[in-house]
Amino acid sequence: AKHLGRNNFQIYEMSQDQAQQQDVALISRLRHAERNGELRVFYQPQVDAATEDIVGMEALVRWEHPELGGISPGVFIPLAEESGLIVSLGEWVLRTACAQAQAWEQAFGLRLRLGVNLSAVQLMEPDLLEVVGRVLKETGLDPGLLEMEVTESISIKEVPNLVENLHGLHDLGCRIAIDDFGTGAASLDYLRRLPADRIKIDQSFVRNIGIDPDDEAIVRATIEMAHRLKRGVVAEGVEIEQHFEFLRANHCDELQGYLFCRPLPQASFERLLAERQRL
Ligand code: C2E
Ligand code: CA
Ligand code: CA
Ligand code: CA
Repeated sequence: AKHLGRNNFQIYEMSQDQAQQQDVALISRLRHAERNGELRVFYQPQVDAATEDIVGMEALVRWEHPELGGISPGVFIPLAEESGLIVSLGEWVLRTACAQAQAWEQAFGLRLRLGVNLSAVQLMEPDLLEVVGRVLKETGLDPGLLEMEVTESISIKEVPNLVENLHGLHDLGCRIAIDDFGTGAASLDYLRRLPADRIKIDQSFVRNIGIDPDDEAIVRATIEMAHRLKRGVVAEGVEIEQHFEFLRANHCDELQGYLFCRPLPQASFERLLAERQRL
């Protein structure tokens, strides 16, 4: 048994080592991904729960690695955060998506809201407000159409100027959404202390609609609480008709999920808008 244990230990050590090497290789490749044209922004529609009209979209970054193919943001965003690359990557996503939203407003006359994810690392940058202000000015996008999504997993304590920065973004005219609402340890504290315009109900709750009555109660209570606080509420991960019916019946404002549409590359999203406009 001793011998086995020793072997196991070595195997564990090796695989951890390999994983670390792989991360290092990914990070050094990611460093050049933007310049090499390997990054894309996809857009996922957000629809009005009552009318099913497209009223906004969330920008979601994609990385097409030349050898490994598509790598999930769930994998490379944490690496980008660890290495600090998220700062330039995040700025690239913001600029690309704002320019795109402005182009669509011009082309289609649609005033779609644009959601962009902000990492805790970006929120610690002293020049965040300058960067966002500059991007808005350069792209010409109405700040009121830009909604920064801030995940609830960010600790108010660990990001000392979080509250100030979010107020600063508000002062620029941007909106703030609390992402992944309900999954962190301090949802209510967040809601009380951050200048949020709306809440995004996490998909882990939405997934259990029709399955877990407790999660259904949480979703219902979250929507009601948001409305009492005069905040909007959007549900993510809406995958089936049953989720949709439940959320609509409980007056959720907007919905996002595969039931309506997957995240789409720019050209496909544009076709979708053109089709909708013809209806
Ligand atoms: P998130 O911000 O919670 O984004 C929602 C995720 O749910 C996206 O995954 C989206 O594709 C996925 N999704 C949408 N509808 C459904 C559905 O009906 N069912 C299911 N199962 N999933 C759905 P994605 O694109 O893989 O992104 C994963 C995470 O990576 C995001 O979670 C966000 O935390 C991060 N991320 C993506 N793009 C960016 C970015 O530009 N900047 C930063 N900082 N983070 C990003
Ligand atoms: Ca998000
Ligand atoms: Ca989310
Ligand atoms: Ca999430």
